[in-house]
Amino acid sequence: MSLKQLFIKIMPFVKPYKWLVVLTLVMTFIGSLAAQVNAVVLDKTVDEVNRLLHLEHFEWSQASYVMMVISAILLGKELLVLLINFVQKYYGERIKVLISQDLAAVVIKKVLTFKVAFFTRDENKPGKVQTRIDRGVDFITMTIKNFFIDILPLGTSAVLALVLMFAANFYVGLTALVIVPIYFYVTYLQAGKLKNWRTNMRNYREAKSNGIMNILQSINVIKSFNREEIEYTKQTDVINKLTDNQLNTRKYSFIYDGIKTFVEQIGTVFIIILTAYLVLTDYPGMTIGKIMYHIMLFSNVTAPIRQLHRIYDDVNEALIYAEGYFDILDAKDSAEQSGPYKPAEVRGDIEISHVNFTYPNGCKALTDISMSIPHGKITAFVGLSGAGKSTVVNLLDKFYEPDSGTITIDGVDIREWDTQYLRDNIGLVLQKNHIFDGTVEENIRYGRPDATFEEVCDAAKKAYIYDMIATMPDGFKTNASELSGGQQQRIAIARMFLKNPPIIFLDEPTASLDAIATEQIKNAIDAIKQNRTVVIISHSISQIIDSEMIYALNIGRVEQGGRPDEVYKQGGIYKDIIDASARSLNIDKIVKMTEG
Ligand code: ADP
Repeated sequence: MSLKQLFIKIMPFVKPYKWLVVLTLVMTFIGSLAAQVNAVVLDKTVDEVNRLLHLEHFEWSQASYVMMVISAILLGKELLVLLINFVQKYYGERIKVLISQDLAAVVIKKVLTFKVAFFTRDENKPGKVQTRIDRGVDFITMTIKNFFIDILPLGTSAVLALVLMFAANFYVGLTALVIVPIYFYVTYLQAGKLKNWRTNMRNYREAKSNGIMNILQSINVIKSFNREEIEYTKQTDVINKLTDNQLNTRKYSFIYDGIKTFVEQIGTVFIIILTAYLVLTDYPGMTIGKIMYHIMLFSNVTAPIRQLHRIYDDVNEALIYAEGYFDILDAKDSAEQSGPYKPAEVRGDIEISHVNFTYPNGCKALTDISMSIPHGKITAFVGLSGAGKSTVVNLLDKFYEPDSGTITIDGVDIREWDTQYLRDNIGLVLQKNHIFDGTVEENIRYGRPDATFEEVCDAAKKAYIYDMIATMPDGFKTNASELSGGQQQRIAIARMFLKNPPIIFLDEPTASLDAIATEQIKNAIDAIKQNRTVVIISHSISQIIDSEMIYALNIGRVEQGGRPDEVYKQGGIYKDIIDASARSLNIDKIVKMTEG
């Protein structure tokens, strides 16, 4: 990303605060004018004291008058600077804070529109995206402050001091003017040298955050396998690379900063020698006071230039992070697609025809899949793990788009459907459901935020969790993340009941439930299946056996489909799965025991 591109991209974020920027700029500008006062006063003081010393009749009244004027000017200026500094700093900070808030809000809004495929890419792992956003917002905010608040007054300050130097003496001005481009050249070399280190730094920082997040998310597994050492080594590898990179960046920064300070000192030395020479040779207008005056003016030239170089340096670093941030904001093909179709009523007759699908990482999950999922019936997907059952549900929820083939719902291509509207009409219960940080009530209400408390209770009853919630000391205000896996599962089912959608996808909904809960949930699902389309993925023989349609998948293909009894008679994978389930359940013994 070039400086110009960055500038164009950040302009819209600055626009809403343009008057604040103008106010701060004016204040900073007055501040930079005030900064020149010291040099002028010092010059005049030295000359005046010198004049008083050489008077034939020295009078204290004259001296005290001079002192009073000097004190009044310097203290008056300081008071003014105090006020200016406050206004400039406070409003400068205000602009920064408000813009960083806008930057964060815009990017989060954008990220929420992305399709699921975006998040499955390696470079978009949660920790990486989080770092990219955080760092991006920080650096862009800093750049905005640098660009719009600091640069102009600093530049003006430097030019003003340079003009005063030329006004004082042409040769002195020229000396300062020669030093400045050398200084700029060193900074330019520095930026070139550091570019690669900085890009690496960004990548390592993202990897580090992602690594830490992974550890925190998988802490139970790490501990149960005693893999702390391995995780530690993985993490320290990244940290070591980051440290090396950081040290190298610092090393080169310090070297170049040193060179710049040296160049500045050469300038100061030249100015001292030149002014002293001019004073000694009685050059017109040259007095002892001018030595101090020129040195102060020169430092008034170099101080803002040093700041400008800091900005240049910051901006170079910001370019790297801003690029990551704007990559997210401008990502073109990542937004979810949506169509216009929003029918008054959704029935839920689903037809899948010759669908092929490959995950973004290249894993081909479905090959030439065709199936009919009728309204008003329970359709079960069976097959071994990895066969592609959940993938079909992912496609039906529009989380991914098929490579080829068509999916229609109520005769309309799924691409034509309004994505949010379709999802409003789909209830999805997964094997491991996400429980948000919050109370049980909030978690159930997620299914329909405007539901009344009675409706929330009703949903909890249908999911057979109401009685249990009622016995807890905090009832519906209990923190849901404290519940067991099975209880959380029922909360997710309650959420779905509250949503009450015409299409329901259940992906191993009872896998983490005990036998009694499984039966209760099965009854609840049976009770609501009327007039709905229910797809169930399950390894539980009781749920499969009750379904009215079966599709048996194997390595991404539909091997069998039809009524369960017919499919069973055909033999093949469905029969294998049912027989194996029956054997593993030891049904003969169970029958004997329950009958006997
Ligand atoms: P099932 O639900 O039948 O157990 P899935 O539909 O989850 O199987 O997976 C089908 C195939 O797709 C598997 O080979 C799996 O590794 C792969 N797969 C599933 N999810 C993803 C993903 N997010 N990215 C890449 N590959 C995936």
